[in-house]
Amino acid sequence: NGLLTGKTGFVTGAASGIGRGIAKVLAAEGANVVLSDLSSSTEEGAHAVAEIEGAGGVARFIAADVTSGADVETLIAQTCTINGRIDFAVNNAGIGLKSMLADSSEDLWDRMNDVNLKSCFRIMRAVLPIMRRQKGGSIVNISSIAGAVGLREAGIYSATKHAMLGLTRTAAGENGDVNVRINAILPNAIRSRLLDGTSPEFLEALLAPQAIKRLGEPEECGHLTAFLLSEKAAFITGACIPIDGGYLAN
Ligand code: NAD
Repeated sequence: NGLLTGKTGFVTGAASGIGRGIAKVLAAEGANVVLSDLSSSTEEGAHAVAEIEGAGGVARFIAADVTSGADVETLIAQTCTINGRIDFAVNNAGIGLKSMLADSSEDLWDRMNDVNLKSCFRIMRAVLPIMRRQKGGSIVNISSIAGAVGLREAGIYSATKHAMLGLTRTAAGENGDVNVRINAILPNAIRSRLLDGTSPEFLEALLAPQAIKRLGEPEECGHLTAFLLSEKAAFITGACIPIDGGYLAN
């Protein structure tokens, strides 16, 4: 019996990287998982679903751009039709374009805020009333160590990841009365496409402060997320938990 047997929900940005690893672990823990990502990632998403089904899990792919209110509504409505409820949501979709603040455009600010932050607000705003009616549910927001420190060359990214923690804490305070829990995790340097695109120097600088000097695995984020979404974490809400090989410890 898995941690999430009988639970239904979705993971955004689940076609690759951390989201895919999280979806895999949630399914292995018995959840019925909707993997969601951009429609341009449908093929990758189908591969991820096939991998989960091959391991005996239950999953499906629903295309949704988290910057579209209509897409998000459809994603939530379709998830609800599976079992008539929505037990969990994982806000993982994100982009991490590098730019020194002094060189950053307003367009970059708008884009990064839309994808990383407003999406989190948009999804919580839609999912929380459903979870409140159900008198139960759990959300995990994927922030970053950049939500706790100002990451150089990633100022706008850091701002969005800090703000996600504000949303997480407020949502936790507002919804504990009906057993709805909202937590965040703060990864550093997890193996993914997002990091594949960075220079060796950037990667080295990310790993240097870690006590455990290796990349984290997407599935390691999955195990923490599965725990937070499960009844084992029934007394944990508003927590912002690093999963960073010790990056923030010293
Ligand atoms: P990734 O690029 O592999 O995955 C991100 C996924 O989000 C992609 O599949 C992409 O298609 C999807 N996506 C992008 N824009 C979207 C949109 N508008 N709507 C729906 N989906 C969209 O990168 P990742 O590292 O797996 O990142 C996942 C999350 O983890 C991000 O929020 C990122 O900020 C965070 N994070 C990553 C690391 C790391 O080291 N990789 C560290 C800390 C935090």
